[in-house]
Amino acid sequence: MAANLDLLPPGTTKLFRVDFDYYTPRPHFIVLGKSKQITWSSYDGQNSQFVEELMRVANKIRGNFGLRKPLLSVHRGSWLVPGKDDKFHAHICTDSDTYMRVFNDKKGLIPGWPSSRYVTKEWRASKNPSHYEENVRRYPYKEYFDDEIKQARRRLEAGNVRPWANPEGWTLFFHESAARVGFAPTGQQSREDLLIAMERFIREHATGSERMLGCHVCLALTAEACDGFPSPVFGYIQLSADDFCNGCPADYANGWLSRFEQEKLPTLT
Ligand SMILES: [Zn+2]
Repeated sequence: MAANLDLLPPGTTKLFRVDFDYYTPRPHFIVLGKSKQITWSSYDGQNSQFVEELMRVANKIRGNFGLRKPLLSVHRGSWLVPGKDDKFHAHICTDSDTYMRVFNDKKGLIPGWPSSRYVTKEWRASKNPSHYEENVRRYPYKEYFDDEIKQARRRLEAGNVRPWANPEGWTLFFHESAARVGFAPTGQQSREDLLIAMERFIREHATGSERMLGCHVCLALTAEACDGFPSPVFGYIQLSADDFCNGCPADYANGWLSRFEQEKLPTLT
């Protein structure tokens, strides 16, 4: 078996390697642990050394490949349950043109590429092993907006909301039409600090909401990566419409839900 591809220059880090997303073709670079010891338990969102190394790797990829609108995205979800697959991974998201430029430049280094062993059920546009690009450019497929909107509307009608307070050191800003809550620093906090603060925020607010544990924690690697907020933010948490309406200011929710329904912005993280 050939060695795995690593898009990082040799000697960058002992902890991680970076590869393309073969499982779900989309414009994401995937950060993976180099050893089995790199687990979700070792991430736990509060280990600043781990987070600093993750940020350093993400910034290396951003700089080396000139990524546009780069975001570091950590998906939370059922795999955080102890006993399930505990291997850590994170996503570095960019636009399809930039991603495909890097991919076409490096695909000769991918062991055995193209091959049917890379094709999964998530190759929805085409199962032909040579049609990776078609799959990347068609992503994302249908999103489940209708159910989300129904749930959120029911919540608002019942008045079943608990708007969030600003966490210490950060001001929350709510996206104009996507289910994203953004974070702006009130002082000299760094982007690394935000990754830790967002993780803490989820742990505090996710009680009783399995879905909220499945949100995406997204950190902008450059200022232009987050648009649609009333004020510049360092990053945001991507939520379901229902969770968003639960936590946003009560007088904001109804207008927001109509814009969400109209614009149906896809989740790209
Ligand atoms: Zn993921």
